Amino acid sequence: MKAKTIILYLLLGASLLFGKPTIYILATGGTIAGAGTGKDATTSSYDSGKVLIQTILQALPADEISQYANLKSEQILQKGSQDITPSDWITIAKRVNDLLQQKDIDGIVITHGTDTIEETAMFLQLVIKSNKPVVLVGAMRPSTAISADGPKNLFDGIVLASSQESRGKGVMVTANGNIFSASDITKSNPVHLDTFKPANIGILGYMWNNQPYFLRTSNQLHTLNSQFDISSITSLPRVDIIYGYAGLDEKAVEASIHSGAKGIIIAGVGNGNISTSAQEVLIQASKMGIKVVRAGRMIYGPVTQWGEVDDEKYGFITSWWHTPQAARIILMLALQNGFTEVQSIQKLMLQY
Ligand code: GLU
Repeated sequence: MKAKTIILYLLLGASLLFGKPTIYILATGGTIAGAGTGKDATTSSYDSGKVLIQTILQALPADEISQYANLKSEQILQKGSQDITPSDWITIAKRVNDLLQQKDIDGIVITHGTDTIEETAMFLQLVIKSNKPVVLVGAMRPSTAISADGPKNLFDGIVLASSQESRGKGVMVTANGNIFSASDITKSNPVHLDTFKPANIGILGYMWNNQPYFLRTSNQLHTLNSQFDISSITSLPRVDIIYGYAGLDEKAVEASIHSGAKGIIIAGVGNGNISTSAQEVLIQASKMGIKVVRAGRMIYGPVTQWGEVDDEKYGFITSWWHTPQAARIILMLALQNGFTEVQSIQKLMLQY
C-alpha cells in the first residue's frame, strides 16, 4: 500500500475515533426564544418566539459545547407553538429528512415551544427516515428570566443528539434532565419546569453530567420502521378533536362533519366513553366514511377496545396508548397514506 493511501486511512480512522459529531439546530421559536415584557426577570409575562437562535446559543458555554459537537444552526420558523400547523410539521420534517441524508450531519436538535412540542415530535417520529438522533427541546421560562431552563435543556439536547447511544432510539424530547420518547410524552402542567410526563411506560432515561443514561427503548414503530412517507405530500387531511364532558350533545360533532373533517377524535370520558346524543351522530359519521377514534381526556393509560362501546358494530377505532393529539397525527398520516379500512387503522394505533 502506498504511503499516501496509508496516511489517508489514518486520517479517516482518526476522524472516526476522535471527530466530533456535527449537530444541526433548527429553531422554531417558543418560550426558549421568549423575551420578558416586564422590567424585571422575575415576573411571568413574556412574548414567545422573539430571540433568534444565534442569541440563544450565546447563552451556552462555548468551550464545553465544543467538547461534544460542532454546531450549525438555522431559523426555520419563529413562532409560539400554539401557532404551529400541520403544514409546519411537513416543512420541518422535510428539512430534517434532507439534512439527515447529508453525510456530514450527525444529528438534529429542534428548539420548539412546549405547548405543542409533543405533536411535532410525534409527527417526526412517524416520518423521519433515518436512525440519526433527532431531539426536541423547549423551555418553561423565557430566555430573559432568572434561572431560565432553556440553556440547560438545549445543552442537554445537543449532548443527547451527539451521543452514539441515541442512534436508533427514535425522536426524543429532553427536558428538566429527563429523556422522553416522542411516542410517550405529554405536557401536564402549564407552569412547572417538570411539566412533561410519559403517559404509559415511563421516561427513556436521564441526562446526567453531560451524558445520557438510557433505561429502556420504545417498542412502538418509528423512523426507519415507520411505513408513513411524506416525501410527496404538501398537506394533511382535516381531523378534529372533540372534548368529552358531562352533557356533551351532538352540536360539536355536527359542526365537525359540516366542516369537512375526514376524521374525528373524541377525547372521551373514562375509557373513551361518549354521551348517547354525541355517540349517535358519531355513528352516522362513521357510516358516512368519516373515521371516528375514541381517545380519552385523561393523561395516563390506554383507551381500550371492548369496553362499554361496541366499536366493531359502529366502526369505531380506539387510540390505545395515544393521547387524542397523538392519535390525530396517526389518523392524519394513515388517511394521507391511503389507509381506508377501520381494522388497518386500528392496527396502526397499536403499532405506533
Ligand atoms: N405558548 C408558548 C409556546 O408553546 C409557551 C410554551 C413554551 O414554549 O414553553 O411556544
